[in-house]
Amino acid sequence: MLPRWHILFGAIFAIIIWIAVPEINFFYLALIFLASFLIDFDHYMCAVKTTKKISLKNAFSYYEELCAKQKKEIAAGIKKKFPEFHAFHTIEFHLLVGILSFYWIGFFYIFIGMIFHSLLDILSFFKDGTFHAREFFFFNWIRKKF
Ligand SMILES: [Zn+2]
Repeated sequence: MLPRWHILFGAIFAIIIWIAVPEINFFYLALIFLASFLIDFDHYMCAVKTTKKISLKNAFSYYEELCAKQKKEIAAGIKKKFPEFHAFHTIEFHLLVGILSFYWIGFFYIFIGMIFHSLLDILSFFKDGTFHAREFFFFNWIRKKF
């Protein structure tokens, strides 16, 4: 799912939480909103690492190309994992942030934003038929790498 949709849905989600819990600290609300799309920073880091260019625009066109290639492969019946590993999107990273929330409550709100983001990602995988492409487990990725 494109970051612009994550930003839009993240804002709607934060507003719904604000309506449901009006006494919520605005800073925590901001953490939910920011986490709901900044988790995609791992995509940007991968694009920079691969293309050696730091421009955000370049990262977008890089992923546009990768996704177009993936679409063609899926149409041809080829089901491959995405060539890049997105660390912030793993179950382990979510758990880590969840555990850190016992030490600082801010992490709890970041965790909520991340879970919301990941649920949207999963919905879009089902919609596009790309569920197979994501590596959900950090340890799986490590295991295959070595
Ligand atoms: Zn994502």
